Amino acid sequence: MSDIISLLPDSVANQIAAGEVVQRPSSVVKELLENAVDAGASKITLIVSNAGKSLIQVIDDGLGMSVNDARMAFERHATSKINKAEDLFAIHSYGFRGEALASIASVARVELKTRESESEAGIHIIIEGSKHISQEMCSTSVGTSIAVKDLFFNIPARRQFLKSNNAEMRHIWDEFYRAALASPKIAFEIFDDKKLLIGVRSSNLHQRIIGLFGKAYQQRLIPVKEETVDVQLNGYIIKPEHAKKTRGEQYLFINDRYIRSSYINNSLRNAFEGLIHTDAFPGYYLFINLDPSEIDINIHPTKTEIKFRDERMVASIIASAVRRSLGLHHAMPSIDFESETTLNFKQDKNKEIKPPTIKVNPDYNPFKNKIQPVDAFSRDELVDRQMEFYNDGPKDSSGSLIPEESRSEKASYETYIQIANSFIASSMKSGLLLVNQNLAHQRILFDELIQKNDDVQASSEQLMFPESISLARSDAELMAEISDELNESGFVISQLGPDTFSVSALPHGIDLQNNSIAGLLESILEEFKSSAKLRKDFRKSVILSMARKLSIPEGRVLNQEMMQRMVSGLFQSSNPEIAPDGRRIFRIISSDELTTLLSKD
Ligand code: ADP
Ligand code: MG
Repeated sequence: MSDIISLLPDSVANQIAAGEVVQRPSSVVKELLENAVDAGASKITLIVSNAGKSLIQVIDDGLGMSVNDARMAFERHATSKINKAEDLFAIHSYGFRGEALASIASVARVELKTRESESEAGIHIIIEGSKHISQEMCSTSVGTSIAVKDLFFNIPARRQFLKSNNAEMRHIWDEFYRAALASPKIAFEIFDDKKLLIGVRSSNLHQRIIGLFGKAYQQRLIPVKEETVDVQLNGYIIKPEHAKKTRGEQYLFINDRYIRSSYINNSLRNAFEGLIHTDAFPGYYLFINLDPSEIDINIHPTKTEIKFRDERMVASIIASAVRRSLGLHHAMPSIDFESETTLNFKQDKNKEIKPPTIKVNPDYNPFKNKIQPVDAFSRDELVDRQMEFYNDGPKDSSGSLIPEESRSEKASYETYIQIANSFIASSMKSGLLLVNQNLAHQRILFDELIQKNDDVQASSEQLMFPESISLARSDAELMAEISDELNESGFVISQLGPDTFSVSALPHGIDLQNNSIAGLLESILEEFKSSAKLRKDFRKSVILSMARKLSIPEGRVLNQEMMQRMVSGLFQSSNPEIAPDGRRIFRIISSDELTTLLSKD
């Protein structure tokens, strides 16, 4: 019997790949726009005709291609963007698979004109269904123009499956919006044949959203911003009262790449819970930046679904930042859970928001009453507590939990229970508040140390006797590297010799717990070693290491007073929900959840 296995001809392999990459005209739009952005264009023009079925053309003023590259660009796995496997983990460009142009050229008639700035003349290439038809020099401006005509001309079955022009055009708009939102610095225009549909100039994100979606958006956007050690979040949400009943306005970008994540989407829904109608969708334009090695964009041919190393962490950072923005922009509802069903937005702009006061019933005894006390704090009150912080500024910045002589009247009156020496529990109107004591304290200390670090002169507590410590050589080198940061946070550390240091002061108010000073510094070093490689921000890494090491660990007994200080400190912090490393600090278990929990066998 003769051999039956043979390699597929390239043109067939390309068509198979095209089945994944090119599903409809909008897929071509996406790939061409991304290539233009990758090429460093400052202006990109998209022209479609017959909803892209007859023509999709993208013109950019980017780098252009050399004659050889222009020919190569249509080969499979031809890419200028990666050349080693490791590059896959550090992708900053949109493209990298090198199959878009080859795939497109296998199912359409493609005409390319391109010129690099160094070349006098450009090159003009025509390819139809993977076949090179012609190639000649031409005069053209610097940059690239790719026209894709008669999509699926050679696969009638695929062509038949295309939807109505309206439907295909909607998909094209989606891609156009995503590209234009992801790169506000680049000017974009879209034409239907000769008719200009939208043109937007180089601008910032805010202006870009308004440019694309209309002037009315000027009043609709609420900024969102958050930065943890590993994740930066930026963007806008649409005020809840403008939420639409269609999913249209949900734009989530990770490292400037539009992505879909049902997990993140759900947590955003939850963040808007109670603020929008149950059949409306929250609107958002959110940009997340994190280390490219934290995500895997390679799993999906069109790259709109990506794999996260820690999707939950990212989702909870987003949700908490969004809730905070909603709170800060007075969009939080005051819902009377008892009676009302309509929402009552605090929208009056002329009215200064009063810091909410926490009314409590000091006589409350859970065993005497069957009914919940009216004034126990509710979920919204958690937000209120934060707003109190924003309105009045931080009051007590000492992260120490040692009770002060004169505690402010504000301190809360709730009763706290410690569970397993690790968690603080408290009853709330809407359920059960559970706080991880260690993470709460990390958050409090982190904020405090960051603030100290920002101050010109951090306050220190002089030691009675300076302590000298000696370290292993490699640790000593590291200590020399981070000692400036430590000193800015209140340590006074000086290097005595190659391996020895003297410590003469500690940050004010820190509790050594049972650590020796040498032990403390060694464990800060250890902490830093294990985390610093992963983190971009050196200063924050040092501070996070300190916060971790100085925080009250799980397993430590806390008395009532300490628990109160911990919880009120937490809710005055910059982000009560998320620890500096992204872990969730507290959770509220609703009474519904409790009911479900208790009814399980
Ligand atoms: P990828 O984008 O994954 O690298 P493509 O098939 O989309 O693969 O493109 C192949 C190559 O062609 C790119 O790597 C790039 O070098 C070149 N190219 C494509 N479009 C452009 C453009 N608009 N400007 C400059 N070079 C381009
Ligand atoms: Mg590409």
